[in-house]
Amino acid sequence: MALLAANPALFAAAAGLAGLAIGSFLNVVIHRLPLMLERQWRAQAADLEGRTPPAEAEPYNLATPRSRCPSCQAPIRGIHNIPVLSYLALGGRCASCRTPISLRYPLVELATGIAFAAVAWHFGFGLTAGLALVFTAYLIALTGIDVDRQLLPDILTVPLLWIALIASLWQSAGGAVPPAALRDAVIGAVAGYVFLWLVFQLFKLVTGKEGMGYGDFKLFAAVGAWLGWQMLPLVLLLAAVVGAAVGIALLAARRLGRGAAIPFGPYLAGAAWIVLMWGPAIKDRYLAFAGLG
Ligand SMILES: [Zn+2]
Repeated sequence: MALLAANPALFAAAAGLAGLAIGSFLNVVIHRLPLMLERQWRAQAADLEGRTPPAEAEPYNLATPRSRCPSCQAPIRGIHNIPVLSYLALGGRCASCRTPISLRYPLVELATGIAFAAVAWHFGFGLTAGLALVFTAYLIALTGIDVDRQLLPDILTVPLLWIALIASLWQSAGGAVPPAALRDAVIGAVAGYVFLWLVFQLFKLVTGKEGMGYGDFKLFAAVGAWLGWQMLPLVLLLAAVVGAAVGIALLAARRLGRGAAIPFGPYLAGAAWIVLMWGPAIKDRYLAFAGLG
């Protein structure tokens, strides 16, 4: 502990390595959590309609069954489950049947490792870095699930909000984020939810379409609780700018039909992470630029 506190580079390297392993776990969460929720919902729907819930062949959660190749069902051995390295060693193919493995798995591992190292380096050893790592892991899992399924599960967004609110009990006003000061966090949670809810209702009124989901409101509420209400406009601005740029690029590349739904969660999550890391710096620079600082 003292060693990590005294050596920022060592702390960043340790966090980066832990990030690779946690990225490997996040891959499991991204893939399995929506399937687990679907099972639950099917069982509940059957229950409501008075049918017998469909019998499930085997338990399915984050721990069981063991990871298998989706193509040949061969269990993935421990030696083939080392983040990034196994993918490279196997040439991106299943060890048994040589079916290509999605590049997404090593990319999520690598992104988590890099993000963890960056957070550790930026904040240094301490409570703030620990919280920022938790926030980062949640944002990556939510991004992956939203890209896959256009879904931001309550089982992730709600605890994310609670963790921030509880952590903010330990922050006095004006301190570095995270945790935000309790008052800023509570106002941030309410303002985040209500603001996107209002945008949603307005958009629906004007266009008759639903532009976002309730998961987006909850994620933005959590972001408000983590970063404080003061950072919400910046998060929204960054998310909108990046979202519009990617949307236009996809339209131009004809990868996307006009009016197709684009999940907003990944942009919110990405913007929230940028603001977590550089929000105060961006804000200071903007204020100085505007002649207010
Ligand atoms: Zn295989």
